[in-house]
Amino acid sequence: MQKRVAVIGGGIIGATAAFYLSYLDQSQSLSVTLFDDDLGQATKAASGIISPWLSKRRNKRWYALAKQGAAFYPKLIADAKLGPNVYQQTGTIVTRKQPDDLESLYQEAMIKLQHTPAMQDVELLSAREVGRRLPFLTNPPAGIFVKGGAKIDGRCFIEELLKQAQKQRLIVRRQRVFFDKSGQIRTSMGLEKFDTIIVATGAWMKGTLKPLNYLVKIRPQKGQLIDLAVNPLRYRSRLPVLMPEGSSDIIPFSQRKLVVGATHENDGGFDLKATAKAQTLLLKNAQVFDNRLKAGQIMQTRVGTRAYTDDFAPFFGRLPSNPNILLGGGLGSSGLTTGPIIGYLLAKAIVDEQWGHWEAFTRPLSNYII
Ligand SMILES: Cc1cc2nc3c(=O)[nH]c(=O)nc-3n(C[C@H](O)[C@H](O)[C@H](O)COP(=O)(O)OP(=O)(O)OC[C@H]3O[C@@H](n4cnc5c(N)ncnc54)[C@H](O)[C@@H]3O)c2cc1C
Repeated sequence: MQKRVAVIGGGIIGATAAFYLSYLDQSQSLSVTLFDDDLGQATKAASGIISPWLSKRRNKRWYALAKQGAAFYPKLIADAKLGPNVYQQTGTIVTRKQPDDLESLYQEAMIKLQHTPAMQDVELLSAREVGRRLPFLTNPPAGIFVKGGAKIDGRCFIEELLKQAQKQRLIVRRQRVFFDKSGQIRTSMGLEKFDTIIVATGAWMKGTLKPLNYLVKIRPQKGQLIDLAVNPLRYRSRLPVLMPEGSSDIIPFSQRKLVVGATHENDGGFDLKATAKAQTLLLKNAQVFDNRLKAGQIMQTRVGTRAYTDDFAPFFGRLPSNPNILLGGGLGSSGLTTGPIIGYLLAKAIVDEQWGHWEAFTRPLSNYII
């Protein structure tokens, strides 16, 4: 008899887990259902930068996970047969305001490059050289080019990945579901029993696990970004991402779309309203580098809710008191980088019927859930 697996939450963790549950289960011993209500999903609102190596963060487990996550992308893209409309490895340009800081960052990058094949190559670029790589900039800064850096369209990623998984028997049900006290799931069809459940409900996980008497220590943060229509004559395809220090990231996603993001609004909670204040701030930040950008070019503002833990680190694993429930969350601002590898590891643990030893990547769940 097939084992019934439910995935609650169809953001980057849930969608990747659902895909790999279907992909890895060669013996067809699982029936997999994904529940998602798509409300405020961070994944679809995200800027889409995959370039963790020069982050200022010093959390070793986070770095090990993010490094593995960035290196995992080419496999995922190939396994799911996703195209350049979803993921492009165009490189990223990271800047520092002070020349000395840029020089030390370059030294650090060169050391990391020696044992990080996914970085591919590193170059120190003058402002003029950055201007050559990003010709639409009117005021390019000096920076460091990391060839392995990439960008991903979160919305396309989710849609195409789930389409591939549905071809391999995944069932997707668009609805909000709830645990009851016994661990069954209340769906639109009543109470349903599953043998194994992955909970990947992002910023909403506290509410998801409350009926089971768990307190999840995460908080929501509102994030907004703007999509601008650009003149294809000024934008080539496959341009790198600009990550200026202390400002907004500039992501030329295609010859017609420039993404500028993102805000970090701790008092925004679960509010999903786009604000004029955020639009003005993001546009102003981008105009520092391209003074020809105008408010009239803003096509849309995307809003999503990130999930943060007290130590800003993601968590994942099996609930010790109920090992048939697996969790992944707390991805914060780098979840497009760490989410897919978490989804893959959770799926693999279910298919291979293993407990999963992930101490190198996450502290025990008891640090985040009581
Ligand atoms: C503006 C912005 C910019 C960002 N930029 C980047 C970036 O450049 N690089 C990067 O690495 N990361 C970035 N991030 C972070 C990244 O997007 C998130 O960390 C990541 O997408 C979170 O994924 P998730 O799967 O945990 O949750 P989500 O993507 O939020 O998905 C959770 C899903 O679960 C659903 N759900 C919740 N409860 C239930 C329920 N009871 N029943 C059914 N469904 C439910 C929700 O509706 C949602 O669809 C950004 C985030 C934002 C908001």
